[in-house]
Order: sequence, then C-alpha cells, then structure tokens
Amino acid sequence: MTEQPLYIRVHPKDNVAIVVNGAGLPAGTVFPDGLTLREFVPQGHKVNLADLEEGAPILRYGQVIGTAVRAVPRGSWIEESLVRMPAAPSLEHLPLATEVPPKLPPLEGYTFDGYRNADGTAGTRNLLGISTSVQCVAGVVEFAVKRIREELLPRFPNVDDVVPLTHTYGCGVAITAPGAAVPIRTVRNIARNPNFGGEPMVVGLGCEKMIPEWLLSEDRPAPAAGNTDSIVRLQDEGQQGFGEIIASILEMAEKRLVELNRRTRTECPASDLVVGLQCGGSDAFSGVTANPAVGYAADLLVRAGATVMFSEVTEVRDAIHLLTPRAANEDVARALIREMAWYDEYLQEGASDRSANTTPGNKRGGLANIVEKALGSVVKSGSSAISGVLAPGERVDRKGLIFAATPASDFICGTLQLASGMTVEVFTTGRGTPYGLAAVPVIKMATRKALSARWHDLIDIDAGRIATGEATIEQVGWELFQLILDVASGRKQTWADHWGLHNALTLFNPGPVT
Ligand code: CA
Repeated sequence: MTEQPLYIRVHPKDNVAIVVNGAGLPAGTVFPDGLTLREFVPQGHKVNLADLEEGAPILRYGQVIGTAVRAVPRGSWIEESLVRMPAAPSLEHLPLATEVPPKLPPLEGYTFDGYRNADGTAGTRNLLGISTSVQCVAGVVEFAVKRIREELLPRFPNVDDVVPLTHTYGCGVAITAPGAAVPIRTVRNIARNPNFGGEPMVVGLGCEKMIPEWLLSEDRPAPAAGNTDSIVRLQDEGQQGFGEIIASILEMAEKRLVELNRRTRTECPASDLVVGLQCGGSDAFSGVTANPAVGYAADLLVRAGATVMFSEVTEVRDAIHLLTPRAANEDVARALIREMAWYDEYLQEGASDRSANTTPGNKRGGLANIVEKALGSVVKSGSSAISGVLAPGERVDRKGLIFAATPASDFICGTLQLASGMTVEVFTTGRGTPYGLAAVPVIKMATRKALSARWHDLIDIDAGRIATGEATIEQVGWELFQLILDVASGRKQTWADHWGLHNALTLFNPGPVT
C-alpha cells in the first residue's frame, strides 16, 4: 500500500513541520504542495518548509524553538544538532494577567458516581489508605496489607482496596530544613486524598524524625506516648512481638473498614472532580494530537466547574510568557513566577538547568530541546484563565484551572498531584509508558496510532487519529471528557487498573539528607 506523504504544520508562522508517516519518509519524497525531501526524515521529526540562513529563528507553535546552527536548504531533516537552544524567557517584566481569557460558557448536567466525603470533597474510589511516617515500617505495612486483603476485605464489599502509602522519607533527613516542608506536607496531604475517605490512619516506628501526629495535623503536635485511635507505633511497649504489632494494625484497619464500607457511590456533579494532567515519554506529536485534545477536555472540565491541575515546572518554564498573561489576576501571575524562580534556583544549586529535562526518548521522538517540549506540553492547559497556583504538595482549595508546581518526573509529579487532591489523572505519552497509581485511576492517551496499536492493552485512548485526520481535536477531547466521567464512576476501568500496574509513591525532597 502506498501511503500519502503527510506533514503537520501547527501554526501558520511555522517554518518547520513534522512528518506524520509511521516509517518516516525517504529522500526524494514529494508532498502534495511540492515540498521535496532532500534526505530521510523519521516520523515526528522536523522538515524545514523554507531555506534557513545561519542564525535564522526556527518556528514551531508560532514560537521560536531555537536558531539554525548553519544554513539549511528547504526540505532538510532539522535534527537536534542543527537547532541552537534559546535562553529561557526572563522572569523579570513578564506581563501579569494582561490577557485574562473570558469565562467560558458553563457546561451543565454532567455528573459522575462518586463517594461523598464529610469535608465536601468526592472520591472516585473507596480505598483504605495506610499512611506511614517512616520507611522503616514499610515492610511491616506491606505484610499487614496482604493480611487485610485476604482476611478483612472480603467482609467489606463496598471498599475497593487497601493502599499502603509507603515512601523513603521520615528519618535520616534534616527535618527542620526549609525544604523538608515539601515531603512532610506531601505525606500528610496524600493521606487526606478524597479517595481515602478523609480519615487517615498512620503506622509509625516510634523514634523517627517525622512524628506520626504531624501527618494528622498541620500544627505539628507533640507525639503521644503510645498507640492512639489513628496511630500504631511499632515500638509501642504494649505490643509483644511481630504478631501483636500486626494485630494492632489489623484492629485499626478494621475500624476504618467499617466506616469506609458505609460509603456507596452517589451522583455527584462533574464540578466535584479534581483531574491531574501529566505527560511522560513525550514526542513531537504530543503537542499536536494528545495534548491539544487534553486541553480541549480541560476546557470542558473547567466549564463544568471542575478542578483541573497542570504541573511539571521544567515543561512550563520556557512557555511562562504565554501563561502569566492568562492568570486570573496579578497575584496568580506572581505566584506562577514565584514557582518558576524557586525551581530555577533549585536547578542552579544542583549545577543544572532546564535542559536536563529532555530524555533520549524525547529526542528520538523528534523533540529538539526543552523549548519545543514545553510549547507542546502547556497545550494541555487548554484556553481558560489560570485561577490558582499551588506550591509542591499543597492541597487544592478552588475550582478551575490550577498550576500545581511539581517536577516533571512522572512518579514525583503524580505523587504531588495526589497530595493536592487529584482523583483522576490523565497521562499523555508518545514513546509509551505503563505508568499507573494505586490511589487514583490513570487514563493514558497515546499521541501516535503506532503506539496505540502496539500497546492496545495498555493505552486507553488514541489521539493519533488526529494526525491522520480520522478524528478532530474536539472529538477526541469530548471522548476523553466522557471517559473521565466513566472511569471516575467506576463504570470503566483503565488498562493500568486492569493489570494492577501501580508505581511507587516518590516524594519530592528538596531538603538535605543526613
Ligand atoms: Ca512527566
């Protein structure tokens, strides 16, 4: 079968386009508009639509992604070594809330079947989360969870599962360092995620630096002497041996299960959803197919009154000049800049910069640098005003489009979004990743048809159809919106949940380890 040669130019100002055809296109290929390839160009990689002089700006998404290292004739493969990366936009003199998008028309009547919590939030799952104050207890908690699943859970049919909230923090760290606030509030806020019903139980050791009580209250109370209604300490002197330790955990778990089992799904407005957006294993199609469809769905969610979080500071940094004008007010714009500045400094201390973000896979997928990746990444945020900004691990307190500052690392970003209160995650991928979370369903969207076909039992929704013209951004956006409601309601299962693919929680600890 001969395939029509196809390229995608995103913006009318662009002087490069990306090749759509799955196997790439050979030298001599002539496009319908007469453009002829001078050499082989792999799928997703860029071809220049006009001659480029040395130093000429290379434009994609209507923005400069770099300048030409040397003169390049029209129809060449613009691979990464030909693109000189520009400096990141300065954080000084950025426009603050100068182009606030008008409020989109409300979208009414959309609901999902969720679990209503006493604090007004709604979960998409009914899970017992067992929080931990230190890594020392992880093995014991895993053992207890196995017993809870086997012995207790069958008696509580309304509870979906038990999730051990284990992590590597809690001791051997500078607990009073400014950076320690991030992992501490992350662990505390994850335990309060709506999917756990809002009543944390904590397993601690007894001599750790992160006091179990800190996971129950922001006021950092002093530790109690022994076990309490919500805390089991392994070193509690009332427990003789491992058997009694496990019995204490099972006893506390059973009390929680009795309460959780009273929860049943009830109709909740779509405005109760908290949807986290992320990408991982991005390619040049991410910004053309999946991320625009996610952006369209993000607008639908915002119109329905929901909370939508986009994240990943290093993938926003180079597009910050496009975001600060969209902030709902100047305070929100300044908070965006504050998070960018904090991260610039954090990277600098590590003798690094944002160019450390792109992976070999990103580059094989056609992304020349972080500028090109960022421009494709922020498309996920749709077109609405940015209504709030969260520092890493802070809990969300409002509706609308939120920037939740996190690293771009998939596991760290997901962990922080859980702390912020996310109840469904949407994850776009071009290269492919089996990423999943135990605490919330993760819907995975592929940027390319080839990936969706190969990973037919891992990818939930195929945005590659947009590149070939089989579906529009709007159609895939609506499909995703409906899938979010179905998955949130438990009517449909993601592939990651089907196979039980759940990544470990990974805390962001900018503080020192001792
Ligand atoms: Ca990521």
